[in-house]
Amino acid sequence: SLSDRLADALKDLRGKGRLSDADIDRTCREIRLALLEADVSLPVVRGFIAKVKERAKGAEVSGALNPAQQVVKIVNDELVGILGGETRRITFAKNPPTVIMLAGLQGAGKTTLAGKLGHWLQKQGHTPLLVACDLQRPGAVSQLQIVGERAGVKVFAPHPGTSIGGEGQLGVTAGDPVSVARSGVAEAAAQHHDVVVIDTAGRLGIDQELMKQASDIRDATEPDEVLFVVDAMIGQDAVSTAEAFQDGVGFTGVVLTKLDGDARGGAALSVREVTGRPIMFASSGEKLDDFDVFHPDRMASRILGMGDVLSLIEQAEQHWDTQQAEAAAAKITQGELTLEDFLEQMLMIRKMGPIGNILGMLPGAGQMKDALSQVDDKQLDRVQAIIRGMTPAERDNPKIINASRRLRIANGSGVAVSEVNQLVDRFYDARKMMSQMSGRMGMGGGGRKTN
Ligand code: GDP
Ligand code: MG
Repeated sequence: SLSDRLADALKDLRGKGRLSDADIDRTCREIRLALLEADVSLPVVRGFIAKVKERAKGAEVSGALNPAQQVVKIVNDELVGILGGETRRITFAKNPPTVIMLAGLQGAGKTTLAGKLGHWLQKQGHTPLLVACDLQRPGAVSQLQIVGERAGVKVFAPHPGTSIGGEGQLGVTAGDPVSVARSGVAEAAAQHHDVVVIDTAGRLGIDQELMKQASDIRDATEPDEVLFVVDAMIGQDAVSTAEAFQDGVGFTGVVLTKLDGDARGGAALSVREVTGRPIMFASSGEKLDDFDVFHPDRMASRILGMGDVLSLIEQAEQHWDTQQAEAAAAKITQGELTLEDFLEQMLMIRKMGPIGNILGMLPGAGQMKDALSQVDDKQLDRVQAIIRGMTPAERDNPKIINASRRLRIANGSGVAVSEVNQLVDRFYDARKMMSQMSGRMGMGGGGRKTN
């Protein structure tokens, strides 16, 4: 196939080829440890590493990075891809209010999150209402009221008029959270709140009664979003907890909390992989503003625990890009572009697909249909074959190719001698034109004209 031939060609060109299995294995062993240290669950680590190896084995050697750096880069890219694969914002209901229900273990940070989410929504011009449906834990309702007051967001609680901090007279352990949730949504509709955030009860462990209550609240309010709130510090337990909530209640998104702690955040990868649900927000402290939409790149770097390595890789790549661009520009302005460069450029462009398709994407290509149909890949294959038939010295300076060499190159690549001559002539014309053009555009400046 085309891509195989291209890969082979690159091998010839650079004399290197693909990343070696030994390079990949060695680096993957380190990555595996880093992931386990970050508390990613073992089956998820295994699956992930297998995927990375698969991808790394197909990867060509980078000019900018050493093999280990290159594998780390692949790992990081893959991680960012998985963590952000389906990054999305809240889905708002066509007919308000939008209902967002929070679910998760006790202490996960749901009530704190309700305040942050309300605050954040309000800043975006929404008019949220928080609904206190945790009637389990003493003081839970007043906790939400305090949080709401701090955020400047209204709270719907089962005992209106209950004073903040009035723990003594609260006594809201009785009551029905499902009807509170229902009344909360009705209240929001009546008072024109466009979003409802429902805070629910949690237990310290997974508990059937709790799951039942949460799924009853869900059935009663038909939320647009159910957010599973999970403490990044619980590490390996994140997987079983997420699975239990997925079975018991079901959720549409994940919020990771307590990222201000020293957890490396492996829970993010585990939960994402095991449940397939996107991580939507991240919480990183007790203050209202310690909250943000989830950033996959930051999380990937945190999980890998290789921040320094990653920034080195980035620098190396930027440096390399600049170097390459400068070298190419200098060659063009000085009229020193070689057939070797030409072949390399051509291979890079052809990687994108059949040449007719690529040219067809250019503006105005519609009117040039006929012309484009004549640019065929076979013709380019012949050009490539001719250049490959040349020695490196000949590619650098085609003028040294004498008549007998031209014949040999033609025979070797299965073309007529006239085609070799044509290519060399056209190459010199093109080089001259590029040199003149870049001189006029002021590229590099002071380009020496050759002929
Ligand atoms: P809930 O039981 O799920 O409602 O959890 P809470 O919102 O009551 O939070 C439990 C504890 O964790 C409280 O002491 C919160 O102040 C704290 N907490 C919540 N979110 C964060 C966070 O992102 N970082 C830190 N450090 N603490 C948090
Ligand atoms: Mg709570």
